[in-house]
Amino acid sequence: MSETATPHTQSAEPIATAPSASPADIPRYLLQFLLASQGVCHEYTLLAALLQLARDLGLVAEGDTPDATRWHGQLREHIETANVRLEPLQFHVAQVQLGSGKRAAMAQWRREMAGVQLSPADTESLSQLPDSSRYYVHVNTQSSPETRTGTWMTPQQVEFAKWCVAQFAEHGSAVQTLGPEVAAASAGIRADIDGASGSPHGWRRCVSYSVGSTQLAQYPGLSAIETEQAVAQLCERRWLARTSDGRVGLTVRAAAELDSLLRDTYALPRCAVCARVVLHGAACGNLAAHVSEGPESGEEDEDEASSGMAMWHVDCYQHYVAHVSKSCPKCSASIVDDAVYVL
Ligand SMILES: [Zn+2]
Ligand SMILES: [Zn+2]
Repeated sequence: MSETATPHTQSAEPIATAPSASPADIPRYLLQFLLASQGVCHEYTLLAALLQLARDLGLVAEGDTPDATRWHGQLREHIETANVRLEPLQFHVAQVQLGSGKRAAMAQWRREMAGVQLSPADTESLSQLPDSSRYYVHVNTQSSPETRTGTWMTPQQVEFAKWCVAQFAEHGSAVQTLGPEVAAASAGIRADIDGASGSPHGWRRCVSYSVGSTQLAQYPGLSAIETEQAVAQLCERRWLARTSDGRVGLTVRAAAELDSLLRDTYALPRCAVCARVVLHGAACGNLAAHVSEGPESGEEDEDEASSGMAMWHVDCYQHYVAHVSKSCPKCSASIVDDAVYVL
């Protein structure tokens, strides 16, 4: 799945503040904005919303260019305040990284911001921030996967979504030869990885946690048309996303909500740098060395037992090969010469 290829992108609506609004209301307004954006937006989209709020509340004088770094820090504090209030309700606003990396995230951010009327000073201010792949996502923290998504999904959607997750996990467990459609749909991610690996022609193999629509149409509980509708609804809620070649996969929001389920139940590999589940990035290609470390043979508490493969998100891979090592931390094979894309 590449969320960057999703045609649906939520445009950031300006927040309508009440005349009596005060700075103490900022966390609540930011939360409202995040929920109106289907519970997921790039951190700079939320920052843009904060700058608009600050102007509404008279906290930034007309004509002033706000200090983006300072407001970025304030955004974090407001979200912390919102989280204190959300905790009894078992919700949380998490900051997560888009696995497909900064470039993909910034391209998506520009689309998120396309319809937003920002003042030239705020636009100027935001443009000074470094590229970021971080998103804010509103997630349900209840322990059971059934209730976790139950607040907005119907029971049928929950059943279907659970089945989809199983399909994604199973599909991702098989290493494939990179086909032309997948290659074309993932050119951006591959370019970022190839740039970091220095591999002149790229790698031949990939795994993918996104599946074709026809595979999802096999769902026993629904007709093909009903399945298509269910996928469309889950895409609209930014829980599933389509790639440009028609595959369907989990979004950054769903991945954040399901992180422990993906790791513990489906044994999806965790990133060697940040320890979150990897749906996009790179994996060590020395498969033989990793097979015996699969979930079947591992102890539950064993650190790497959730998966045999060594994986990295795009940003994490770039960091790892530039600053840590060009070899796999588990088997010492090269991870730049002939590794595996996660697309
Ligand atoms: Zn990572
Ligand atoms: Zn390895």
